[in-house]
Amino acid sequence: MSDCIFCKIVKEEIPSTRVYEDEFVIGFRDLNPLAKEHLLFIHRDHSKDINDLSDANPAQLSDVFKAISSYSKSSGLASSGFRVVTNLGSDGCQTVFHTHFHVLGGEKLGGFGS
Ligand code: 5GP
Ligand code: ZN
Repeated sequence: MSDCIFCKIVKEEIPSTRVYEDEFVIGFRDLNPLAKEHLLFIHRDHSKDINDLSDANPAQLSDVFKAISSYSKSSGLASSGFRVVTNLGSDGCQTVFHTHFHVLGGEKLGGFGS
């Protein structure tokens, strides 16, 4: 989508610090990190949110999770652990409407289960 900032990041029209890329997926650093390590993983193809993606192209979910798995193992993030979060809609506080998965780690995270 032409007015989507994450599509612009995919096309490198907006700069980002990429940590991962393959044929389907890119991973890059969040502009406003909420943890020592805060990455965003997105499919190169535009979808609005996880429901949109699951309806239209559910295989993209495995593309993204394979990428997260690969990155987390090669970067060492998986050895200490991490959290994956996706927000949807208003109550979920979604602000960018290109499906994305926050990968948070690099330190002990508060919140869920602690
Ligand atoms: P949401 O609230 O939609 O789940 O998350 C959107 C995330 O995108 C936020 O954490 C925000 O900091 C990040 N973000 C927004 N614009 C940009 C940008 O231009 N570059 C990068 N790297 N991250 C962005
Ligand atoms: Zn997009």
